[in-house]
Amino acid sequence: MNFHELRQEEVETKLRTSIRRGLTTEEAERRREEHGRNELTEEKLPSAWLVFIRQFKDFMVLVLIAATVISAVMGEYIDSAAIFAIIVINGVLGFLQERRAEKSLQALKQLSAPQSLVLRDGEWKKIQSSDIVAGDILKFTAGDRIGADIRLLEAVNLEIEESAMTGESVPVEKHAAPLRGETPALADMKNMAFMGTLATRGSGIGVVTAIGMKTAMGNIASMLQEAQRSETPLQRRLEQLGKILIGVALLLTVLVVFVGIIQGHELYTMLLTGVSLAVAAIPEGLPAIVTVALSLGVQRMIKQKAIVRQLSAVETLGCTTVICSDKTGTMTQNQMTVTDAWSGGRHWSISGKGYEPKGKFFEETKEITPSAEKSLYQLLTFGLLCNHAELKRKEKEFVIQGDPTEGALLTAALKAGLSREQLSETFTIEQEFPFDSKRKMMTVIVRDAQGQRFAVTKGAPDVLLGRSDYVLWDAKRQLFSKPYRKQTEEMLETLAGRALRVIAVAYKPLRATDQFHDAENVETGMTFIGMEGMIDPPRPEVKEAIADCRRAGIRTIMITGDHKETAAAIAGDLGLSKKKSDIVDGQSLSRMTDQEMEEAAERTAVYARVSPEDKLKIVKALQKKGHIVAMTGDGVNDAPAIKAADIGIAMGITGTDVAKEASSLVLANDHFATIKAAVEEGRNIYENIRKFIRYLLTSNVGEILVMLFAMIMGLPLPLVPIQILWVNLVTDGLPALALGLDKAEEDVMKRPPRHPKEGVFARGLGWKIVSRGFLVGAATLIAFIIAYQQHPNNLVYAQTVAFATLVVAQLIHVFDCRSEKSVLARNPFGNMYLIAAVISSFLLMIAVIYITPLQTIFHTTALDPREWLLIFGIGAIPTFLLAGSFYARKRR
Ligand code: ATP
Repeated sequence: MNFHELRQEEVETKLRTSIRRGLTTEEAERRREEHGRNELTEEKLPSAWLVFIRQFKDFMVLVLIAATVISAVMGEYIDSAAIFAIIVINGVLGFLQERRAEKSLQALKQLSAPQSLVLRDGEWKKIQSSDIVAGDILKFTAGDRIGADIRLLEAVNLEIEESAMTGESVPVEKHAAPLRGETPALADMKNMAFMGTLATRGSGIGVVTAIGMKTAMGNIASMLQEAQRSETPLQRRLEQLGKILIGVALLLTVLVVFVGIIQGHELYTMLLTGVSLAVAAIPEGLPAIVTVALSLGVQRMIKQKAIVRQLSAVETLGCTTVICSDKTGTMTQNQMTVTDAWSGGRHWSISGKGYEPKGKFFEETKEITPSAEKSLYQLLTFGLLCNHAELKRKEKEFVIQGDPTEGALLTAALKAGLSREQLSETFTIEQEFPFDSKRKMMTVIVRDAQGQRFAVTKGAPDVLLGRSDYVLWDAKRQLFSKPYRKQTEEMLETLAGRALRVIAVAYKPLRATDQFHDAENVETGMTFIGMEGMIDPPRPEVKEAIADCRRAGIRTIMITGDHKETAAAIAGDLGLSKKKSDIVDGQSLSRMTDQEMEEAAERTAVYARVSPEDKLKIVKALQKKGHIVAMTGDGVNDAPAIKAADIGIAMGITGTDVAKEASSLVLANDHFATIKAAVEEGRNIYENIRKFIRYLLTSNVGEILVMLFAMIMGLPLPLVPIQILWVNLVTDGLPALALGLDKAEEDVMKRPPRHPKEGVFARGLGWKIVSRGFLVGAATLIAFIIAYQQHPNNLVYAQTVAFATLVVAQLIHVFDCRSEKSVLARNPFGNMYLIAAVISSFLLMIAVIYITPLQTIFHTTALDPREWLLIFGIGAIPTFLLAGSFYARKRR
């Protein structure tokens, strides 16, 4: 289609839309029904079969299949069938669980899916980009990904990076005029923008000409992105551990079988022993439970408004030592209200709350009429001219569309009776140099009714001070001499010291012929008009969250483009730091050597007046000092720092698509407190994983020892393979899952962060597994020996007692695993899932022992009720023997 050749009205007619009002919701709905969603391809889940087959590729499963075959060869058909059934059930469970995880991963993607600003029914609305239809009017600014192919209707300093389409990495300038002549190559279509490309500068509006597979991007099949399946470092480490355990098991098996045969034991018995040992050594349930625990943890984080984009972030969160956070909007509410105005030595205060355009003006305590004060009126007028924000009424509240800083200036102007409509009768805006955080200014070139041209600039006062040669004093333009400068600077300090964000306004008369291609030549030699100071109250929960982080050994650093004094005042309010020496500003940062920067990074609490580019330096300096850094951001320029950080955090509401793509965590509500909640959840998930690793491996150690010692002592095997499998997968599996859901110990946020290189068995976990495993094994063996001596002719009876003791010992031991300290340190009823799991496991064991058909399969027999006393007595030993020593230590 030749949209690039058409005039705007022609495009409008052709696509049956309205440039001013967009499509109606009904029409958009109809078009979506007719032409489908704006998606490249349906992202398909891997086929069910594939996932199912994948469950059996595991080496562990192969060992079990070998066990099935060996049992079958030896004529133990029931055993063989039972083991096989367990493999299949395990496979099905793994399959169901993986499907669920996959589905929730997809849902997660949806949550962080790109959105677009679309004109529907005459209003700008944010919608999922997949809901865009042809004929929609789209608006975007630097940092946004273009949601569909569009013909531009308006382009303000617009540059778009199209490397995904054209391979050209330098952004191209775009315009909105029709192109004539031959059909140009994609790269030359300067009045079109393509789906998936990225606006790097300026802003634009366009009408959607193609969606989904009909876009230029749709043509490039290779652009289809594969869904990422990622494993966390812990999962990788566990996989390695699993391999080691299998290796050990096999070695042990071969050794035992070999030695046994040399000693003259029957081959049959030895093979059975070998299979049992292999089964005993492998924690069959572990990988599945780790996946479940991680995916449930991710769900919990979503409830807290933290959306995990990379699973590995869950683990890294627990290691975070520094959180670098933006001030505006993350620590503060981004609800700006102008409270003070100042021009030429006179100061006014303005009443009112939020964005409601109702308030009065006072000089000292006397109410004044703003339109009667020439310099104040000019300040407010120019603040409104250089401004894009719009005020909307939403039910009872007034909300701002656009930049909150500009919203505050707009509201202040409205309070003085000014309006944009009224200004547009007198002033025409000819050109604009949009705001960017590096220049910290924005400029418009304006022509008034008399044809006079001038530039209006608003921006950071310290920057404008340096660029102004004149000042408006007593409503007259005068040279900006030292005394005037001094007074202005003093006022700036006073306002900023009250935690106000201060915006200065300046202007510059221009000749009719002056032409400008960049901001640099305009924003100089200006006339300083005055300043407006606005409050942006801190979010209420931030102070406490910062204190919580401090107790958890995590330092918080505030990073802001705002003035040093403003930043210092807010940092003081939030309990960050009041000391001047803890604050570094962009200027001094740029003078520092790498080493100085690293040293400064260790003590700085606030970085003020920094540009987004500085964030990368800050991340690197902190990382050099061994920190694990979380860094927030929202703009395009923040992306490199977000990417470089260990945890890159993007804002869900104000964040650009680029920032989100670079991040591993998205804050759905933009709150600082959410980061703290995510860190806490991250620590908890890791601790829970440690808990069930400890629980499951203890069981394996116990089982191996029982078998080994029985053999050494010349006793028959105390447990048969099917019993061991039942314990590993079922009666241990349920409580292990419940441990994955455990609440954090009260002190998770009172300990220092975990070292990222820390192994799975660190902090005494390895010793706990071995010592408890030894005791569990010993208890099982003792119970077996006692029962065997009482009923020397009934091996099945003794084996049933051993089986029951092992299960009971583990069901008691699980409560010990809830705490790093002792079984007595936590209320056993604190985790009701665990109580339910323990009861279920116990009943399942009872079923296996007392239900006749199951007895045949599991080699069990009904036990005398008196036996249970022995089983519980011995089963409690492993847990309470060592709990006693904890108590003794505590009392000392
Ligand atoms: P953060 O605290 O998240 O870093 P910030 O808003 O302080 O955000 P920037 O947005 O980079 O940081 O703004 C830097 C400075 O530029 C502000 O302190 C202000 O003086 C000025 N400024 C901000 N917004 C505008 C705007 N729309 N027009 C002109 N100047 C602005």
